[in-house]
Amino acid sequence: MTEKEIMLLADENIMNTYRRFPIALRKGSGTRLWDVNGREYLDLVAGIAVCNLGHCHPNVVAAIKDQADNLMHVSNLYYTEKQAQLARLLVENSFADKVFFCNSGAEANEAAIKLARKYAHENMEPDKFELITMKDSFHGRTMATITATGQEKFQFGFTPLLAGFSYVPFNDLTALEKAITAKTCGIMLEPIQGEGGVIIPDAQYLAGVRDICDRHGILFIMDEVQTGMGRTGKLFAYEYSKIQPDIMTLAKALGNGFPVGAMLATNKIAKAFAPGNHASTFGGNPLAMAAAVATVKTMLQDGILEQSCQTGEYFLSRLKKLRQKHQIITEVRGRGLMLACGLSVEGSDIVNECLKRGLLINCIGGKTLRFVPPLIITTQEVDQAIDILDAVMEGK
Ligand SMILES: *Cc1c(COP(=O)(O)O)cnc(C)c1O
Repeated sequence: MTEKEIMLLADENIMNTYRRFPIALRKGSGTRLWDVNGREYLDLVAGIAVCNLGHCHPNVVAAIKDQADNLMHVSNLYYTEKQAQLARLLVENSFADKVFFCNSGAEANEAAIKLARKYAHENMEPDKFELITMKDSFHGRTMATITATGQEKFQFGFTPLLAGFSYVPFNDLTALEKAITAKTCGIMLEPIQGEGGVIIPDAQYLAGVRDICDRHGILFIMDEVQTGMGRTGKLFAYEYSKIQPDIMTLAKALGNGFPVGAMLATNKIAKAFAPGNHASTFGGNPLAMAAAVATVKTMLQDGILEQSCQTGEYFLSRLKKLRQKHQIITEVRGRGLMLACGLSVEGSDIVNECLKRGLLINCIGGKTLRFVPPLIITTQEVDQAIDILDAVMEGK
């Protein structure tokens, strides 16, 4: 099909929930994508922080092909090897003792909210079920997760929302402490806010939240759906803070593009779930597990995280230089390869012009450019991206 035919067919038949760019992509490899006309793009979006090892990483492709030849799906009523192995890998490399598998970030957060409520129901005083979440957060698009998301634009038109949520500004320990009531059972936040604009809290903030949770005997839920799997230069972003959450959610990059999510917890908390309390038909599906095992193993073996930290620092330094040159850049920030540029103007023109020059970047909240490339991006490719941004911003 031609690009035009694909676009027409899609627009006629797919619900209008996405504003799409006028290109149809056909192939990906590493940091590169090609559209149906054979045009090449340097991809700094990576499926929105999903393809952290790059598109179609050979280890992940081989694992999926091999698994597809043998077993694609069985119910969680039975054991499968890759599911056990992935759980072990995640437990070995995190604070957690137990894992629940699902298919997406929203679903992982739903599971976290349910586990927190169940744990509270069994272990705290009656009537403790409320969660405090952050303004400008993002936790997904289901009813519970849009409720947890502290942004009205995601909630508008979908009321009534779920009961039992309240919101405080991110990076504000005083407001958080004040918001705790007799009904609070936990706090849920992203260690770095992603959709909210790549907002990095003060160095002591997460430790402060941990301290508040401990003093009040409530749970700390960390949504690492975007920050996890190496995005910030460590496997999980909480590792920078020297503290640990009680519950953590993962999805996006866990399968390097294969849909998979996970909710992790300590034994103490995980014990609140018994057979029948929660489930997912596809959760822990053999294909997803094979993809995720290959993803996690590759990420831990090949020095990818260390390399990505260096590339991230280089990228940040080049963005800082760009800021000195272009007045429209108000701020640059980021950690690892989760980077952003604040702008004084709308970013959509810049994104469109970059696209025309073969560079894919992402604009969030109107005035923030976000860069979440595959972690394998080279400094030469960063230079290439910076040159395009520089040219596009010229005269703006
Ligand atoms: C993307 C994202 C989600 C939602 O994940 P889906 O797979 O789209 O449901 C939740 N939390 C954070 C922090 C995210 O970035």
